[in-house]
Amino acid sequence: MAKRSITETSPIEVYRLLPRTNCGECGEPNCMAFATRLVNRELTIDACPPILRPEHAGDRADLDALLAPPVRAVRIGRGERSAVLGGKYIVQRHEFTYHNPTCCALSVDDSLSRDQLVQRLRTIGEFSYNYIGRDLRLDAVALRSVTGDPGRFRAATETIAETCKLPLVLCSPDPGVLRAGVEAVPGLRPLLHAADSTNWREMATLALDADCPLVVSAPDDLAGLRSLTKTLRAWGLEDLVLDPGTFPGGGLAHTVRNFARCRYAAIRDGDELLGYPLLGAPIAAFTGEELDSTRCAFDEALTASVQLSRYADILILQGLEGWSVLPTLIWRFNLYTDPRKPVAVEPGLREFGSPDRQSPVLVTANYALTYFTVESDIKSANLSCYLVVEDTGGLSVESAVAGRYFSAAGIAEALAASGVDERVDHRVLIIPGLAARLSGEAAEATGWRVLVGPKDSSGLPAYIKERWPPGPA
Ligand code: SF4
Repeated sequence: MAKRSITETSPIEVYRLLPRTNCGECGEPNCMAFATRLVNRELTIDACPPILRPEHAGDRADLDALLAPPVRAVRIGRGERSAVLGGKYIVQRHEFTYHNPTCCALSVDDSLSRDQLVQRLRTIGEFSYNYIGRDLRLDAVALRSVTGDPGRFRAATETIAETCKLPLVLCSPDPGVLRAGVEAVPGLRPLLHAADSTNWREMATLALDADCPLVVSAPDDLAGLRSLTKTLRAWGLEDLVLDPGTFPGGGLAHTVRNFARCRYAAIRDGDELLGYPLLGAPIAAFTGEELDSTRCAFDEALTASVQLSRYADILILQGLEGWSVLPTLIWRFNLYTDPRKPVAVEPGLREFGSPDRQSPVLVTANYALTYFTVESDIKSANLSCYLVVEDTGGLSVESAVAGRYFSAAGIAEALAASGVDERVDHRVLIIPGLAARLSGEAAEATGWRVLVGPKDSSGLPAYIKERWPPGPA
């Protein structure tokens, strides 16, 4: 029977299972407030110390069952060197929000020399791109055995453990090779790829011995995948990840269909055997007949973005150039941003260049994409100016004006709070062109002369050049 969706679980049901003492130890004013945040997945049950006590064990178990995601959460690695896969409650993002962003694991292989391996690991570990104020990074390293030599695999695993702090995926169809890698990193709990219909006994034994999560692989065979999962569960394995197969290029539609069937079966039909995180391997774009590496990297990026949307919880990738990996990271960021909370920056005053007492003063909204676009246009034109960022609840200028979140009163408040009046001798404020209709009210509310700037901040350099300093009112 299908488990109820998280959106159908009410705070009252959760509240009834809490201690209901309103003690405040969780930092919330009362148990009902805690229950509401628990249902919204903003807190975990562990934040309530009393429920952890033995006398509440029964309620705790009921709460765990009530709040458990239909797609199990599986942790790979340990401590800081770990990532959580899955833990999904919904099929469509607009139903609630996605949790646990897809883990992007970059591949290395055991044919590389130690120097080549270290160099690639450093590039993976240091990869960082600032996108609207957030650092986008890679999450894991996937070591593939291409030599089939347990000694080389062990040496490469040791090098990764010494060089890089990311969680690890070990990939080989040979249980003996995987065992060599697992034994090189005791306690690190790598994800093992993969058990299939030919090797599942040895793989299951290895995963149980080393307490590692295990990938179950049955390319394009969902019945086989279910059957293998059932068998492995019967052997006592709980932390499983499913690999239904990735077929880039002409097989992409088929790939999506298999992934979607797994996810719908788990969430809509309550199929526990398919209720595990899904592994996508866009790296397969490099293993076909295509020899042009640029074309392979393009196909990999395309496959990755499709699998991010439908419904991979971990991706194994090869391409490490910015143009191929950045679309994946940016799409992941957008997909996993909570649709209920706009991405915002801190309101307040920003200085650019070397502003003096005659420099322009501009105002904008605190929607992150708006702010960073304005910031980029100001910086690339080397403008010296002040920018007052108004708290519009994370809405863009146009939406905020329509919803009265960007208002004359708000501009006046932000201007006063910024203290910019003490830094300039003039009283002229430039508002965004998209807020032109507020100019009269803003002039009244602030007592400043208000100029209407361009609708698009890319027009700011030309606007400032032509209109600043402004003539007499
Ligand atoms: S710590 Fe637990 S019992 Fe105390 S107020 Fe919070 S939810 Fe209620």
